Formats: sequence, structure tokens, C-alpha cells
Amino acid sequence: MNTAIPPFSDLSGLAAGLARRDFSAVELAQWTLDRLAADQTNSVLSLLPEATLGQAKAAQQRLDAADSGSMQQKGPGFSLLGLPIAHKDIFVTRGWPTTAASKILRGYLSPFDATVVQRLATAGMVCTAKLNCDEFAMGSGNTHSAFGPVKNPWDPIAVPGGSSGGSAAAVAAGHIPAATGTDTGGSIRQPSAMCGLTGIKPTYGRASRWGMIAYASSLDQAGPIARTALDCAVLLAAMCGFDSKDSTSLQLEEENFAAGIDQPFSGAPANAPLSGLRVGLPKEFFAEGLTAEVRSAIDQAVGELTRLGATACEVSLPRTALSIPAYYVIAPAEASSNLSRFDGVRYGHRASAPKDLLDLYCRSRAEGFGAEVKRRILIGTFVLSHGYYDAYYIQAQRVRRLVAQDFDAAFQDCDLIAGPVTPTVAWNIDQAASDPLQEYLADIYTLGVNLAGLPALSMPVGLGSGSDTGKLRPIGMQLIAPRLKESLLLKAAHHFQSATDWHRKTPEQFGAA
Ligand code: GLN
Repeated sequence: MNTAIPPFSDLSGLAAGLARRDFSAVELAQWTLDRLAADQTNSVLSLLPEATLGQAKAAQQRLDAADSGSMQQKGPGFSLLGLPIAHKDIFVTRGWPTTAASKILRGYLSPFDATVVQRLATAGMVCTAKLNCDEFAMGSGNTHSAFGPVKNPWDPIAVPGGSSGGSAAAVAAGHIPAATGTDTGGSIRQPSAMCGLTGIKPTYGRASRWGMIAYASSLDQAGPIARTALDCAVLLAAMCGFDSKDSTSLQLEEENFAAGIDQPFSGAPANAPLSGLRVGLPKEFFAEGLTAEVRSAIDQAVGELTRLGATACEVSLPRTALSIPAYYVIAPAEASSNLSRFDGVRYGHRASAPKDLLDLYCRSRAEGFGAEVKRRILIGTFVLSHGYYDAYYIQAQRVRRLVAQDFDAAFQDCDLIAGPVTPTVAWNIDQAASDPLQEYLADIYTLGVNLAGLPALSMPVGLGSGSDTGKLRPIGMQLIAPRLKESLLLKAAHHFQSATDWHRKTPEQFGAA
């Protein structure tokens, strides 16, 4: 192991190490590969050391060519050139296997890169691994992967959250400083919360969906999972931007989310940088079902925001409970349509010796998809079917509109909304999957954001007890902003992290890694 590389470093620290020549991009890549190869969490689905080291060499050449002065950026931002990243196996990646954690895509090699993958590569990031997730991103605990469940580095009998569980576990275990994730109903925020990390889901339309294997297209967004708000800001800026290949991509000027992240909120004094920021606490997020330990961690974090100058007020999101049935109609409906492309003909698993075309379709899909994916396809096909379409699908779309209106109304009284990400800390792997409904209900605080297309961030704010193993399990706080206000989320989180150290805690310090 290269001792110049401190484990559990954030991206900005590693960027400084590269700029100081403490280690090279190739040494950093090799160090990362060694850690990923020794992974105990089942977060890694594929490693391609040659490809990784090739990218690292190219990055080091670019670093060498750049005059060292130009690497010392002004302000809090930093260059991503030469830094390691790993991708959720939902992003197609040229030259790498891409499976969506499904047997149906075993052996699939994409001829092109997802836009997000390509943008991060253009920024000079080195792709180090493809990471485990719930099959087709359907799940909240990463127990629905065809390649087995992922373990939470804080407590290996616990789930890491899902569906971007491999991304969160690999970062939390200290293998990599950051990973990509996707969030259709919480899959960046919830595993970030359960693994003690910072993650952000941008406004719908900010990040291109091109090359992101589709789950529910009107909800899917990509985003980063990292240690700090600053790292997320730099990564998000590199990932997002207009892409003509995604018809829902927003035509906006590219935004540098790190610029001004350390500046006080509009006109606030430096010693109370969040003065003037109004934080709304939705009363429905603090109702029945929220465990006492999560509630107390959130209360303390809100207290910290107010110490930093913010004011807190109660707001209401009356349709919060309805976001669960609405989402679990709309997402499966879109999934049933998106997943119809896996037919055993064009790519992916093909059943052997089919009797006829129907037999080929039926057996390829029956053999290739896992139980949770089949459940979603069945639900989705049912709610779209003649006779039920109006009762379920159209009704869910109406509720979706009302959920979005609730957020609009709440933002009349506040600049940001704060609350828990999940009602509980991570549950045990063996508790999962016995009752799918329980898993769906745990998404209560995250789904509304996707239905409304809003940006939201999750950051660590405490540690809870979870189970009788004596190991601690992280607690996350969610910050939600109006459309396109990612920089406000990141600024609030950055000031919180400048005043606290929850984001610096690692499972290793607690004897769990
Ligand atoms: N848990 C939610 C689901 O299973 C969200 C998943 C996601 O965001 N990809 O649909």
C-alpha cells in the first residue's frame, strides 16, 4: 500500500495530493484497484485493471503537461484530472461489462459510453470499477441484485441502502472517494444516508439519461455519492449539461456548483453564514413511523443550521403519504414499458432451443429477470391495462401533480426543506425482501422529490444503534430545494460540514471496516 495516500480521503484532498506530487495518478489508481480487489462488501461487479491504469497514465501525462500553477485553482473548486471514480452498473461503459445487476444482461458490452461516464472521463477521471446495485435500480436495500446483496461497511449484517448500494458501500469502505449513482425514488440519497455519505440528486433534466439503463424515464436522474458537499458540487458540475441525445435534457448554461459554495447566504455575515435562510420542516416528515434516534439526529442538525444563522419553520406537504402509491404505480408502469426491450432477440440473455418466438420471449425473460423486477413488470403491465389505466395510472399522475403543488406551496414559506431521508437506520440484510411492501414504505421521504422533479441532497448527521450487534449505523438528513437550486443545497450542506464532522466519520474509526 502506498502510504502517501491516506485512506478515506475526499476528492479535494486527493486532488491536492496529486498537485503536490505526493503520489501520481497511476499510483492512486493502483492503490484504488488494490482496495477494490480486496473488497469485503460485494460492492464490485467488474474491475479492468489494464483499462484503469491506461486511463491513469493518460491523466498523469495531462497533469505533467499542465503547468503546476494552473492546477492550483482559485476558490474552493479543484480539478478532477487523475482522480478515481467508479460507476453504478446502470451506466453503460464502453469496453466494460454493463449488467444493471441483472442476469439478463450478463456478458453485455456496450458499444458506447453513457453521457455521464463520458463527461467524467473527459474531465480526466479514471474509471476504476463497475458497482453492484439493485437489479435495474429497483429496490431500497441492494438485496435485489442477481450478483448477491451488498453489505454495509458500518455493519456487515446491514443493507447499505439501495438501489445505488454498491456505490455507497465502496465509498464508505474507503475504496474510492466517490461514485456515480442514479435516483428514481431515492437511490442516491437513501444509500448515502445509510452509509454516512453525501449524495445529491439534481433537478430532473440536469443530468443526461443517455446511456443510463432506463428504469422509470420520467423520474430517473444521475448524481454523485461522495464524502463532502464540496466534492459533490465539483462532480455534479462535471456530470451535468445539455445533451441533445436526451430529449428531457434542459438547455441551461453549464453551472459551476462549487463557485461560491463557501460564501455566506445572500448578504449574511461570515460568522452566521446561513442568516436569512429559511428552512422548512414538513410536519408530515416528523410524524408516525420516524424512529426516535433518527428524529433526534435531525433535530440536532436543524439546531446546527439555526446556530449558523438559518431560521426554521414548520411547513406542510399534505400528500406525502400518497407519494408512495403514486410512485409505485408510475415507476412500475414506466419500467414495464422500458424493460420490454429485453426480449432475448437483440441483446442480453437468450433462452436455448426455443419452440417458437413466443417461447423465446417468455423463457428469456423468465430466466433473465429476478423476482423483484418481475413483480414490477406485472404491476406496471396491470396498471396500464385496458380497464385499469384510468383507475390507477391516470389517478397516479393526478396525485403526482398534487405532490408537486405541495412542494410549490411549501416553498412560498421557505428557501429549503429539511427532514430525514429514511424513517430508520439501515435494516438487516436478512430482514429484507420478506415483505416488499415494507421496503416500499421506507421510501416515504424520498419519493415526492422525484415525482416533483426537484433537486435534493443527503448528508450525514448522526449515528444510530440499529441492531444488537453494537455497531453504529449512519443517519442522514435530506435538504430539498426548488427546481435548479442545487447550489443552495450544496452551500447549506457545505456550511454545515464546515461546522461539524459527521462527514469525517468512517466505519474504520468504529472498528467496523
Ligand atoms: N426504492 C425505490 C424503488 O425501488 C427507488 C429506487 C431508485 O431510486 N432507483 O423504486
